[in-house]
Amino acid sequence: MRHDIDPKAQLRTAGLRVTAPRVAVLNAVAADPHSDADHIAAAVRDELGSVSTQAVYDVLKACTAAGLLRRIEPAGSAARYEARTGDNHHHLVCRSCGTVVDVDCVVGEAPCLTPSQTHGFAVDEAEVVFWGLCASCRRDAPVDAT
Ligand SMILES: [Zn+2]
Ligand SMILES: [Zn+2]
Repeated sequence: MRHDIDPKAQLRTAGLRVTAPRVAVLNAVAADPHSDADHIAAAVRDELGSVSTQAVYDVLKACTAAGLLRRIEPAGSAARYEARTGDNHHHLVCRSCGTVVDVDCVVGEAPCLTPSQTHGFAVDEAEVVFWGLCASCRRDAPVDAT
């Protein structure tokens, strides 16, 4: 799914008022997917001057609730945000440097995995995180004789 459309139009479609901080947050996330709130706040301040971190958190929350952003929270990491929503994609996370990379859904639609037992749940999503070492951390890792 491509998300190079105008953030103002996105906000309007989602029924949110267009404000400078909201537009700046959406632009910052689109420019640097899987950023955490601190990183996004720094980018927004670069563009707009003084915007409080709390204001950025509020925008992230509103845009996530409206489906414009997706929030992921890999274990041991701060929450990260991305503009690629609604396609049930998964993530590869590097255990060493924390790099997050998108991978397409295993099957193409949610839930792409079926639990061995549903225990009566109506399952609608499987959150899949693949953990490992990224290419550059593998290069830096001591050579293993096997
Ligand atoms: Zn890495
Ligand atoms: Zn992603």
